[in-house]
Amino acid sequence: MTEEQDRRQKALVEYRKRLMEHREIDARLKSLRERTKDLTKEYDKSENDLKALQSVGQIVGEVLRQLTEEKLIVKASNGPRYVVGCRRQVDKSKLKQGTRVALDMTTLTIMRILPREVDPLVFNMTTEDPGDVTYSSVGGLGEQIRELREIIELPLLNPELFERVGINPPKGCLLYGPPGTGKTLLARAVAHQLDANFLKVVSSSIVDKYIGESARLIREMFGYARDHQPCIIFMDEIDAIGGRRFSEGSSADREIQRTLMELLNQMDGFDKLGQVKFIMATNRPDTLDPALLRPGRLDRKIQIALPNEQARLEILKIHAAPITKHDDIDFEAVVKLSDEFNGADLRNVCTEAGMFALRAEREYVVNEDFMKAVRKVSEGKKLETKLEYKQV
Ligand code: ATP
Repeated sequence: MTEEQDRRQKALVEYRKRLMEHREIDARLKSLRERTKDLTKEYDKSENDLKALQSVGQIVGEVLRQLTEEKLIVKASNGPRYVVGCRRQVDKSKLKQGTRVALDMTTLTIMRILPREVDPLVFNMTTEDPGDVTYSSVGGLGEQIRELREIIELPLLNPELFERVGINPPKGCLLYGPPGTGKTLLARAVAHQLDANFLKVVSSSIVDKYIGESARLIREMFGYARDHQPCIIFMDEIDAIGGRRFSEGSSADREIQRTLMELLNQMDGFDKLGQVKFIMATNRPDTLDPALLRPGRLDRKIQIALPNEQARLEILKIHAAPITKHDDIDFEAVVKLSDEFNGADLRNVCTEAGMFALRAEREYVVNEDFMKAVRKVSEGKKLETKLEYKQV
């Protein structure tokens, strides 16, 4: 080895060492950032709990309007409205419409500003971590990704572009298409890419679990998102509350209508230039109330259809990538047998192929496993449709 080669070799070793160190530091930094995020959340919650405890023995109300410099109209949570004064220590500039306050029982003076009441359910929603989903783990939806980035990412990252042109950026969008085609996955990818908070709710659970409370929950959810910007609100099965309005029927119907009205209100109310965006998803766009789709609300609609052959190939390769394989796998042949499969079915094919390998006591998957797996999933799907047919 010449001296020059020796020197280069040493430099390369040194470079690799440095690279490893860098990666380690990066990983540590990332985990510290996550820990700080968790701690901040915990701190906020404890502070809120504390303030809520302090308000025991006082009347809780909501500011309706400022009358004069000194007087405000407050609606107590048990119903009556009062014209009240305010303690000197309270920052009057923060007493906006909708602010929650504690009133002294006897003098009806505003004693302190209360934190926005956040339902534990909303808190649980926030623990949802978008996970490590990147755009590259979504297959066959290139055009849809491009559109979604334009709607969600662009206004968040470059709001000045919209201001310069003089147009309002979209507030959110609707993803529609059959189940298992990657709508949730796409929303997660956007949130992950933006390092935004991800608030995921299944709309049906809002109206099912919290009769009488659903509208408040929607209000709090948007409030929470505003307090934790940037935030992406993802509402799945939006048809559960955004269905076309029929004549007022049962109390459950009225509950759904109230919830929808609140949702529309919130969508209209929030700042276009804020860092909150919503993505809603449905398998049944035909049943949605047109009010929900009006401009300024769900501005844009993106169809997520069943994947075609090319898209299926991409999805299959994504899910097969982490699997230990032996010899070449003929993915094209597998895809040919996967007509009408959605993304979730293709992921199942990969899992099944792995199961075949396990049963054969192998630590790797061969082409035959994939072929058997795709046939098995296909059989399963046929059975499913037959069962559905019988149920009808
Ligand atoms: P639903 O309407 O039932 O909520 P969905 O459209 O939201 O369905 P997802 O939950 O995103 O579907 O998809 C389920 C799983 O299927 C995903 O976690 C992913 O593993 C896989 N999958 C679906 N579509 C794709 C895709 N385009 N690329 C890669 N994986 C996909």
